[in-house]
Amino acid sequence: MKRIPEPFRIKMVENIRMTNRAEREVALKMAGYNPFMLPSDMVYIDLLTDSGTGAMSNHQWAGMMMGDESYAGSRNYYHLVDKVKELIGYQYTIPTHQGRGAEQILFPALIARKKLRGGANAPVFISNFHFDTTMAHVELNGAKAINVVTDKAFDTSSYYDWKGNFDIEALKQAIEKYGADNVVAIIATVTCNSTGGQPVSLANMKSVYEIAKQHDIPVVIDSARFCENAWFIKQREKGYENKSIKEIVKEMYQYGDMLTMSAKKDPMVNIGGLCCFRDDEDLFNEVRIRCIPMEGFVTYGGLAGRDMEAMAIGLEEGMDEDFLSYRINQVTYLGEQLRKAGIPVQYPIGGHAVFVDAKLFLPHIPSDQFPAHALNNELYLEAGIRSVEIGSLLLGRDPETGEQKKSPMELMRLTIPRRVYTNDHMDYVVDAFISLKQRVADIKGLTFTHEPPVLRHFTAKLKPIGEV
Ligand SMILES: *Cc1c(COP(=O)(O)O)cnc(C)c1O
Repeated sequence: MKRIPEPFRIKMVENIRMTNRAEREVALKMAGYNPFMLPSDMVYIDLLTDSGTGAMSNHQWAGMMMGDESYAGSRNYYHLVDKVKELIGYQYTIPTHQGRGAEQILFPALIARKKLRGGANAPVFISNFHFDTTMAHVELNGAKAINVVTDKAFDTSSYYDWKGNFDIEALKQAIEKYGADNVVAIIATVTCNSTGGQPVSLANMKSVYEIAKQHDIPVVIDSARFCENAWFIKQREKGYENKSIKEIVKEMYQYGDMLTMSAKKDPMVNIGGLCCFRDDEDLFNEVRIRCIPMEGFVTYGGLAGRDMEAMAIGLEEGMDEDFLSYRINQVTYLGEQLRKAGIPVQYPIGGHAVFVDAKLFLPHIPSDQFPAHALNNELYLEAGIRSVEIGSLLLGRDPETGEQKKSPMELMRLTIPRRVYTNDHMDYVVDAFISLKQRVADIKGLTFTHEPPVLRHFTAKLKPIGEV
């Protein structure tokens, strides 16, 4: 494949610690066989997440020095508001400490409004796929989270351009089944993190929006990777090959009424989020009221002025086409090398991560023994690489019945931070998989020794089956 080199050079380096297998065995055992609980010093290449792990540019660091730390009315807040208007076209902006901060102030306001209008007796949110914290905030507010992503996403080995798309029929049926009065919002997650960083087409976003409008349901765009989504549209959607990323982003946001954003992803800040509204000033004001006790005053939302400045700059840098071409190329490079080595991965490769299909790779481990998590642990022991499970462990139990929810996939995510690792690092990851593949049949599943009730994957403790 054609490789696209970095459109940047390196001005500062961060040394990372190499570890040996014996050290890693002790560390993993002490972490309860849960890589989330590992000290980062024990990790050589950290592919746990692309969230807040990106390298800021010299411009962003310069912006940090321009922080206006006034409690109210910081200049950096106004800069951020202007950038959102310019790049996204939404009038009203609330900064939040990160994406989930936006979720926690928006969702209760949406439910309250629906109740005021006589609905939401049995509230539901419908999404292509709810991200884990998004689902948690839906459920914490007493609502149900329904996913209606295309079935094609679940067949990892067959190519489809738009594995993040809503299944439009399933969306219509879900609205019918739960009743439009109960559907608090439709959440369009771009790109669709949970199915492999897979894009949603503009045509699909448009259809979803039209259906939502027929039923008077608001559309929230969950925007962590809006730039990567736009890049895929430019590559794959007919009629968009000559449009700029900026034009595509503007069009995407016409098919939504508001957004939540984790700015720790595409905008490459270490902390920050957004909750913005296209034109609904009333809702904006209601959400602002919730912002003050939960996140902080409405012009800082849990952030320092300098953080807002870095975010305003990052929103635009994340949309740079040379950067995006290199970025997606690096992720594709890792994915294609793994495919060549016979490792089953979600195909085509997504925007921010390579997703290994652990159901196919470790067919001897049943889903209730968390095959993707077992693979994470093995990769860590092999080479000091940290990855994350996106499957049954993450999905958790049904809050009503206590039963394990049925996960359509058991994926291991190798998430690539932005502007942080080189392609030599990617080769190292591929080599680790090649050695691990020889003894794949010996890898054991896991069982809980401690299972937290909510968002259990972050702090659970486990042990390999058969270990005392
Ligand atoms: C990361 C993420 C969130 C939550 O954002 P945080 O900044 O981690 O709180 C929500 N939705 C999606 C799709 C995400 O990837």
